[in-house]
Amino acid sequence: MNAEIINIGTELLLGDTVNTHHSFIARELAAFGINTYHQCCVGDNPERIDEAVKLAAGRSDLIITTGGLGPTVDDITKQCVAKAIGKKLVFHQESAKRIEEYFERKGNTFPDTNYNQAYLPQGCIVLNNEYGTAPGCICKGKGLTVIMLPGPPRELIPMWRDSVAPYLEKLSDSVIYSQNVRAFAMSESKADILISDIKTPEGVTIAPYAKNNEILIRVTAKAKNIKLAKKAAEPVAKLVAEKLGDKVYSTGECESLAEKCVKMLCESGKKAATAESCTGGLIAKMITDIPGSSTVFELGEVCYCAEQKNLRLGVPMETIDKFGIVSCQVAEAMAKGVMEKSGADFAIATTGVAGPGGGTPETPVGTVCVAVCGKEFMCSRRLSIKREKDDRDYVRNYSAAYALDMLRRIVDRK
Ligand code: ATP
Ligand code: MG
Repeated sequence: MNAEIINIGTELLLGDTVNTHHSFIARELAAFGINTYHQCCVGDNPERIDEAVKLAAGRSDLIITTGGLGPTVDDITKQCVAKAIGKKLVFHQESAKRIEEYFERKGNTFPDTNYNQAYLPQGCIVLNNEYGTAPGCICKGKGLTVIMLPGPPRELIPMWRDSVAPYLEKLSDSVIYSQNVRAFAMSESKADILISDIKTPEGVTIAPYAKNNEILIRVTAKAKNIKLAKKAAEPVAKLVAEKLGDKVYSTGECESLAEKCVKMLCESGKKAATAESCTGGLIAKMITDIPGSSTVFELGEVCYCAEQKNLRLGVPMETIDKFGIVSCQVAEAMAKGVMEKSGADFAIATTGVAGPGGGTPETPVGTVCVAVCGKEFMCSRRLSIKREKDDRDYVRNYSAAYALDMLRRIVDRK
């Protein structure tokens, strides 16, 4: 089955609203084994909506529209679709009642224009809207199935989950399962070479995607049911992970290095703390973005100047004077300081020059010292992060990710 998504709304074309529905729906369709060959976005204009629906009808079996189900004059999706599939819009009493009740629950007066939302294509399956007034619907005509969904995400997502997903599940004869292998600090071309000799069984594909400082290899399997799809994908993902080696931090269980660290700390019952200079709290943020991190994260200090590194973390002034503020010795002293202060089992520290200013011939922009310590060991690295031009964000993000990668390797050793 081939599907096409039509996102309707002038605000999407103007860039005022980020079109999140198209990625959400495309992913969902893929999970049902439904191909999406085309997506399109069109404004609230009847001629252009007609044109988009006609074009989609000529090449797809299933059309999914989002938006334009509201009560106002610019909400014209149902009229356009009904015309395209040769159906009349008819008044749906039950939907009208639900809309009245929705207003009653909210304690608002009911504007008559909202009755427009109760007009639906004749013979359609009505999709109740638990979080708004516009019902969605599934209608068939001229060999096509069209699913119309409301624009607001808080209405569309539950409607999808509760009504559309169960409908598609019955319709689809195959499912797609993807497993992502993630490796830090590896280029796409290097990953490509390493996995080039993997022979995939029928129905399984491997696709590399470079993402920030990472490479993500998506192993996708299409099969009759989820159990068979998993069975086909898992050994291939394992093989990919083996080929990429110790740079791999997740074979599907985690979506980021921070999530991996939190998971490993949780499993080992250990805690971590951070002392950050050039990353300015970014590592602490990445860790605390993960739900459940409060059980493993003790303390995050941001100490920018030498005095505060000395005062709050106990970094000796002599160490700073002797080795320089951007040095592995200072990073190690910061890590030791925050670990002792917090009582954590592990600590991460960073000190460096994120740029664009502040570089010297000995310590150019992109020099970052990262230290990670545990109760009985200390490990530090001096990174030279090179970019074509100074890129503060990149230097900070890369060093934060590097520090988390060091942490996960160290927690793993314990
Ligand atoms: P309403 O009753 O709110 O008018 P509607 O079904 O007519 O609902 P639209 O008017 O098209 O939907 O969109 C309403 C709001 O939903 C938009 O202002 C926008 O915030 C959000 N929205 C619409 N389409 C998308 C989309 N593709 N991605 C993300 N958000 C969207
Ligand atoms: Mg609207």
